[in-house]
Amino acid sequence: MYEKIINADMQGDVRIVDLRSDTISKPTQQMREAMYNAVVGDDVYGEDPTVVELERRSAEVLGKEDAAFVVSGTMANLLAIMVHCNQRGSEMISGDNGHTFRFEQGGSAQIAGVQTALVKNNEDGTFNLDELRQRIRKNPDFHEPVTSLIVVENTHNLCGGKVLPLDWLEKVGNIAQENNIAVHMDGARIMNAAVYLQVPPKRVAKDVDSVCFCLSKGLGAPIGAMLCGSKSFISKAKRFRKALGGGWRQAGILAAAGLVALDTMIDRLYRDHEHTYRIAKAIYNMKSNIFKVDLATVQTNILLMYVDCSKVGIKELQRRLQTVLQTDSVKASVRCTSLNYNCVRFVLYWEITAEDVQLACEKIQLVIKEYDEKFKL
Ligand SMILES: *Cc1c(COP(=O)(O)O)cnc(C)c1O
Repeated sequence: MYEKIINADMQGDVRIVDLRSDTISKPTQQMREAMYNAVVGDDVYGEDPTVVELERRSAEVLGKEDAAFVVSGTMANLLAIMVHCNQRGSEMISGDNGHTFRFEQGGSAQIAGVQTALVKNNEDGTFNLDELRQRIRKNPDFHEPVTSLIVVENTHNLCGGKVLPLDWLEKVGNIAQENNIAVHMDGARIMNAAVYLQVPPKRVAKDVDSVCFCLSKGLGAPIGAMLCGSKSFISKAKRFRKALGGGWRQAGILAAAGLVALDTMIDRLYRDHEHTYRIAKAIYNMKSNIFKVDLATVQTNILLMYVDCSKVGIKELQRRLQTVLQTDSVKASVRCTSLNYNCVRFVLYWEITAEDVQLACEKIQLVIKEYDEKFKL
């Protein structure tokens, strides 16, 4: 179809703007230096001072007693599920678009032996509280699993980086307390939520028993996530972490980057949010019938662009955004992902500069115009 494709990697004047995910972000120079100079020890013995410091700081930032440094957000969520659902025959409640349900390979079932009950996610990442109440099994008889956990996601990835309202979280917390079950927040991007709400991260995590966040997404660290909760929760989580092969040794090398992430990368997240909004506005301004964004719902660093799939296939769109034709006036290759069948996702992070954003806007507009003109005929 595109005969005269310029290979983006080969062509000097083509700029690659990779908006597939904030996990792509690389460590900053300051992180690399901190890693090089990190004081380390054997963390399985609790003797890595840099890990100890990162765990102390993370617990403080999230307003919890203790924290565990783990390999990934996926591991953090799995550990939380294993600790909260410690009884065989347990059930957890999750939104049907939740990351733990959709994208963690069913680890809760595969490894923790926990059944998931789904509630339908609203477009803002919340779910209906009456439906939640109905899912909770009160005084389960011996036919039924035991409801042990509610998982919420903040910001909500598949819902386009939506921030859960604080009053909704408080209600979820109250319902859980009334029923004596735990709430875990998959806060992979909780720092983006806190920045959006202009409150400290611990305010966002106030109503949940445990919370995890990723160091390796918008915060730019190379590897790692933090799981935070009570002292006894974390000591149980660390026990399971060892069984999963997640006991690591001189992990201070990685923790050092995590400390720099906490110190330097949270306050700048608002810029990613501004950049995301700029791209959303550029799409909105095209007034296209094929490509749509809902400006009112663009809150953090994730943007969903909805596509009329009867006209344009998602794969085809991705290819066109990525391709630079010789005739194209904009020399940018824009990369994005498709998580839902009817939209593509753009995610912003620190390495994406204002100039990159400008180029991305122009390229997306060029492609939108091309399709709009094609379907006008
Ligand atoms: C990325 C992500 C995770 C998993 O984190 P990994 O470090 O990639 O395992 C969990 N939950 C949400 C909402 C995420 O976006």
